[in-house]
Amino acid sequence: MKIRSGGHDYEGISYWSDTPNFFVLDMFNFRSINVSIEDESVWVQSGAILGEIYYKIAEKSNTYGFPAGVCPTVGAGGHFSGGGYGNMMRKYGLSVDNIVDAQIIDVNGRLLDRKSMGEDLFWAITGGGGASFGVVLSYKLKLVPVPSIVTVFRVRRTFDENFTNLVYRYQQIAAEKLPEELFLRLTLDVVNNTNRATFLAMFLGNAHELISEMNTNFPELGLNQTDCIEMSWIQSVLYWTNFPIGTPNALLNRVPQVSYLKRKSDYLKRPIPTHGLELLFKKMVELQAPMLTFNPYGGKMAEISPSEKPFPHRAGNIAKLQYATNWNENGEEAENRYLNLTRELYNYMTPFVSMAPRQAFLNYRDLDIGVNRNVDLRSSYFEGAVYGVKYFKNNFNRLVKVKTKVDPNNFFRNEQKKVGVVASRGGDVRAEAMVVPAQRGACQRRFTVVVRRMLMRCSLAVRVSLTFYGGFRRNLAEAEDGWLAASSKILTFQFQI
Ligand SMILES: Cc1cc2nc3c(=O)[nH]c(=O)nc-3n(C[C@H](O)[C@H](O)[C@H](O)COP(=O)(O)OP(=O)(O)OC[C@H]3O[C@@H](n4cnc5c(N)ncnc54)[C@H](O)[C@@H]3O)c2cc1C
Repeated sequence: MKIRSGGHDYEGISYWSDTPNFFVLDMFNFRSINVSIEDESVWVQSGAILGEIYYKIAEKSNTYGFPAGVCPTVGAGGHFSGGGYGNMMRKYGLSVDNIVDAQIIDVNGRLLDRKSMGEDLFWAITGGGGASFGVVLSYKLKLVPVPSIVTVFRVRRTFDENFTNLVYRYQQIAAEKLPEELFLRLTLDVVNNTNRATFLAMFLGNAHELISEMNTNFPELGLNQTDCIEMSWIQSVLYWTNFPIGTPNALLNRVPQVSYLKRKSDYLKRPIPTHGLELLFKKMVELQAPMLTFNPYGGKMAEISPSEKPFPHRAGNIAKLQYATNWNENGEEAENRYLNLTRELYNYMTPFVSMAPRQAFLNYRDLDIGVNRNVDLRSSYFEGAVYGVKYFKNNFNRLVKVKTKVDPNNFFRNEQKKVGVVASRGGDVRAEAMVVPAQRGACQRRFTVVVRRMLMRCSLAVRVSLTFYGGFRRNLAEAEDGWLAASSKILTFQFQI
């Protein structure tokens, strides 16, 4: 059974499968929204789209909002269960940090709310992906205050002698220096064979305060008063999604703009050095199509514990990166070409992003990082661990426990989900993890640990190999480890190259 709410899954796994025998439980018309200003909350059913939710909140008040995604046609069911975020993330955290109740139908057909489902299951469906655990009917959102005037801007800079420094400086200030009321997104792309940087801002305050913050922390951008537009929060939702200001009804349109697309994600922990940026810009000109977006963290995101919700990417991140390629050409040849361009940029970024594991965001679903064939419970667990630790890091184990408890026979399954089962013996595990060189900087290459075999319940064999740029791989060490906590343990090896 596939569960679909808004149908915006980047890999389409809410309505597609390699398996011929499946059906879709379509929640799209299950979409009521009840706003209570007195209670500062909203009950939303899974099929409601974000645009409708924002519209209904703004109908009642212009000083409340909700910190969720910027695309109005995204559905509540997938977005909230996957830990959706938006441009108030630095002030209020993720959507799921502001969800206080939910209703779910479990595998036994019981209708449960937060109290009756218990804290573990509630925790799991607020960021761990709903489709592994049951059918989410609705969520209760806690409204957050927004000022009656917010300020936005979108400024673009094309490649010149200051371009590299501008992007470098952005990485230094976006998460750590700018106030949490300001979300400054950077998108790099290529136009007419030239690198371009687009800075898109949402500021919970007026233009005067914004200019002052920008002049203090990011004068390199050269922001002018004329770049800034003051408006209400609901108008900023329109602005961010490129709808004309003053057309809030557009948020009620439930038909998405269709094109072919591929998305991938990464986490940036340290600024990409200027030399690295120069190489990246050249690579992007070579590839042309893929765009790279930096969504800054810091602020509230850095204050919330990584285990508070299944979404683990909190303190220590400069930004979540999104690789995005869109195309309109039909056919397999075009599809392969654009997919490969996106993957090439992702591979190129390897030295600059998170490792051990290379982390990813569940809502930016990416089947490249692992697929579950659901052959049997045991192999499903190991296949699930490959991508599960990238999405959830140490929270993966708790998700597996919840899954084991609430759906032991794995009724709710798809191409990427958690399976609760413990290993017996034998069999290959196709997991990979990145290992940091002992002395950073001494060696810019990446080490790869391949988890080769699960030997027993608490033991595994690993092979360490070194992959050189250019594709050459050399095996360095093989070892067995007698201690295993799923795939979340970081093993340490010493060897000489
Ligand atoms: C144009 C676009 C813009 C986006 N912008 C953002 C953004 O700003 N921020 C962000 O965080 N993400 C963003 N996303 C990603 C989006 O949040 C995820 O794709 C999300 O899962 C989509 O939810 P959906 O209900 O529309 O998708 P669906 O395809 O319906 O569902 C996605 C997943 O959730 C499961 N699911 C859906 N409904 C239920 C339910 N009721 N119960 C249990 N499981 C369910 C599905 O089975 C599937 O696995 C964007 C995606 C697109 C296409």
